[in-house]
Amino acid sequence: MSTKKQTIKGLLKKIQQYTKQADLEIIQLAYDFAKDAHGDQTRKSGEPYITHPLAAAHILADMRIDPVIITATLLHDVPEDTNVTLEEVEENFGAEIRSLVEGITKLGKLKYRGVERYLENLRKMFVAMAEDIRVMIIKFADRIHNLSTLGALPPQKAYRIALESLEIYAPIAGRLGMDELKSQLEDLSFQYVYPKEYQRIKQLRDSKISGKEQYYTQIKDIAKKELAAANIKITSITGRNKRLYSFYKKLQRKNDNVGKVYDLMAIRIILPTMADCYATLGILHKQWKPMTGRIKDYISQPKPNGYQSLHTTVFGDDGELIEFQIRTEQMDEEANFGIAAHWHYDEKGSHLPKREIAWAKELAEIQKDILTKLSDLEAIKVDFLQTRIFVFTPKGDVIDLPEGSTPVDFAYHIHTDIGNKCTAAIVNDKMQSLDTELKNGDIVEITIDKNRKGPNADWINFVKTNTAKSRIKTYQNKSKIPTWLKSVLPKK
Ligand code: MN
Repeated sequence: MSTKKQTIKGLLKKIQQYTKQADLEIIQLAYDFAKDAHGDQTRKSGEPYITHPLAAAHILADMRIDPVIITATLLHDVPEDTNVTLEEVEENFGAEIRSLVEGITKLGKLKYRGVERYLENLRKMFVAMAEDIRVMIIKFADRIHNLSTLGALPPQKAYRIALESLEIYAPIAGRLGMDELKSQLEDLSFQYVYPKEYQRIKQLRDSKISGKEQYYTQIKDIAKKELAAANIKITSITGRNKRLYSFYKKLQRKNDNVGKVYDLMAIRIILPTMADCYATLGILHKQWKPMTGRIKDYISQPKPNGYQSLHTTVFGDDGELIEFQIRTEQMDEEANFGIAAHWHYDEKGSHLPKREIAWAKELAEIQKDILTKLSDLEAIKVDFLQTRIFVFTPKGDVIDLPEGSTPVDFAYHIHTDIGNKCTAAIVNDKMQSLDTELKNGDIVEITIDKNRKGPNADWINFVKTNTAKSRIKTYQNKSKIPTWLKSVLPKK
């Protein structure tokens, strides 16, 4: 976070640099209106309150986000913290801005504490998402600025806000593919939630990467030369360090063995076309020997949140391992901004083509409903905040499942009977075994056998969802009842 004083002038200048269509006058008016409304209110740090909405607006302007969202960001705390009403916001700025500000205001009011508060928080966020995803973009920027000024709060409160950000906000940002915001939320919260680990990880990362800059520059220069020789135009080539929290999580997965983390530093190459990406991969592999099992093609098989890129780890000239990440500009923007890419201006000052965002709405609707029926915190964490995939019925209905789900999970998700009687699966027009791992976008059709007695006992070993597990167990328990006893039990 820069220490230079942020101003409204600076904000307008930033916005002008990426879009000529912005209504700068409205943005200035929103700033004046908010400043007026907050009056002499101050932040805990003692600064005038307006510095907060202004800072949140700057965070979004740095991401080149749509000025309409930025206007609402400047106004986001007005109805909650001042005497000015939503009606007055609407009179001055119109219905669209009002509805965004209203969305944020609704998120702010939490009644409960503890576990109840966690659920209330999640529920409200899914409601907001279902109504307008843009509200979440504002909320994340709001939270990032609050996290970066946590030092001014009493430790207990700082801890609670950081924990909430790490456990609720960051995973939701991740689910929406907003990697840039997710990483910022994580790294800012990390130091408050696990202060000792934070220090340890930071030192470890710094010691691992210090002194390597020159080596990476050499590698980049060789890559540039080789690509130029093959007539491939590079949009950009940069080094990037792994983010702290993401390094921490990876270390945990690798049993703290830092030698197994290969992407602490990586070189990212952005290219004009997808064909250039594959060509580049070939050229790099001719230059440096690739490590087996480390070539990942997320272009033909995107990650569940839509992430696309080619990754490879190669042996550098002195045996040092280097990871390359290769992708087009559009893939890069989607990787950084996820769903927010639709409100992000690129270098040419235009929006990305609007991709279907119905899935996010649909997801929010589904989760909103289910959330009202659940109360077990751990089950919710497992079922809701892990990576999800979206698959389709032959009729085109979206089914939302955890990553790694199989046709059996799909079948039980639709109906217990379909799960109990499923015998085969057709995935994208091809017959597949029932333990096949489903991928994002698959179209799944289940064949059932009406005479089938019930699920196979070994399905329990590969199903992923709690629904499928509990239905299979229920069936098994029922079938343990001896036949003679069944015949005397009352029929349901
Ligand atoms: Mn705020």
